Amino acid sequence: MRRVVIIGGGAIGSAIAYFLNADPKEKAFDVTVVERDFSYTQASSALSASSIRQQFSTAINIEMSLYGISFFRTLGQTLRVGDNVPDIGLVEPGYLYLASPAGVEVLRENHAMQRAHAVDVALMTPDELQARFPWMSTEGVALASLGLSGEGWYDGYSLLQAFRKKAVSQGTRYVQAHATGLQRNGAAVTGVQIDSGATLPADIVVNAAGAWAAKVAAWAGIDLPVHGRRRSVFSFSCPDKLPGCPLVIDTSGIWLRPEGRKFICGFAPPATRDLDDQPLEVEHEVFERFIWPALAARVPAFEAIRMTGAWAGYYEMNVFDHNAILGLHPACDNLYFANGFSGHGLQQCPAAGRGVAELVRFGGYRSLDLSALSFARILENRPLFEKNVI
Ligand SMILES: Cc1cc2nc3c(=O)[nH]c(=O)nc-3n(C[C@H](O)[C@H](O)[C@H](O)COP(=O)(O)OP(=O)(O)OC[C@H]3O[C@@H](n4cnc5c(N)ncnc54)[C@H](O)[C@@H]3O)c2cc1C
Repeated sequence: MRRVVIIGGGAIGSAIAYFLNADPKEKAFDVTVVERDFSYTQASSALSASSIRQQFSTAINIEMSLYGISFFRTLGQTLRVGDNVPDIGLVEPGYLYLASPAGVEVLRENHAMQRAHAVDVALMTPDELQARFPWMSTEGVALASLGLSGEGWYDGYSLLQAFRKKAVSQGTRYVQAHATGLQRNGAAVTGVQIDSGATLPADIVVNAAGAWAAKVAAWAGIDLPVHGRRRSVFSFSCPDKLPGCPLVIDTSGIWLRPEGRKFICGFAPPATRDLDDQPLEVEHEVFERFIWPALAARVPAFEAIRMTGAWAGYYEMNVFDHNAILGLHPACDNLYFANGFSGHGLQQCPAAGRGVAELVRFGGYRSLDLSALSFARILENRPLFEKNVI
């Protein structure tokens, strides 16, 4: 049986581990996942906003999320282990993109692309918006786009644990250790070195190390354009209810959504301040200075909010084109990459996990063709830009 060692046991590494042995007729691989922190304190999968949308600008991201939502809807049965039926708490109130006059053209272009893929999405005028969400100000909004189904949120940590428990039930071993290097034999990797000094022998190695994936690639002499980009998330309560509140992407660039009886929100820092691998410290001053005024301008009831908590996590940002990098690099025969998801990796973990497992097992994609996300585009300088990175 071929030995696979996966570096990183977050949602991506755990989804790959599950899909490698998902065929109940055959245990195809002996799988070991090396994860340095079983409490996942810095893992993006545990610090995510855990949402899923179909409103992307590229066909490949739409197709991956369409598979993601279908997987999430039936996840309880697919990933059940005996009587234990996982529940990730999926809800589907939609994403609402608000466009200023300058953003209308792009919103319309994206809408055409989404409709061509049968995404259940509708454009709305400010008047339609006001009628549907009377708690919202439409100031500065020229057009909006609302996902009518297939978009919403869930619990990311439960998702990661559901994949992990299912993979363990199939025989995958999780080893708590820090991977420190790769043992090589010419163009092949033969093992993963860990901090105890031991080497885990491998026929195949998968890099699923999230925001730290560039270090793993460098051990094989490969330049992976992925960096940790810090994102702060703030949680707050509001005395008023906002019926039907979707995940709102405001014209200011902030996003907000309900989380139980509270709300969470965040923002993408301007490019000049979006530096690589900053410490995971919450940018509290941004909430007072920028986020709260923008929240209250969009939802007047948010004048009266109370901040209840905050955290920071890394987007594992592919700085080349903001999309995942999947598969082999020509410099190494058996080191597979599943990296650079740039803020949309949780919703893509079913499609990426299944796709990478197919590459490892069959040498090519069998279900959804993910070759648009291969290393080739980077080596040939053909970026596949995703315009809708939040
Ligand atoms: C604030 C925030 C909001 C987000 N919102 C969304 C969203 O709404 N929807 C969405 O789809 N995505 C979202 N994302 C992105 C999503 O969370 C990530 O794309 C996804 O979790 C990546 O999963 P991963 O398994 O690759 O990385 P991780 O979950 O970070 O897992 C990587 C693991 O590798 C381990 N590791 C690294 N190096 C080593 C080593 N040398 N040895 C051993 N172990 C190692 C780490 O400990 C870690 O557990 C968000 C991310 C953040 C931070």
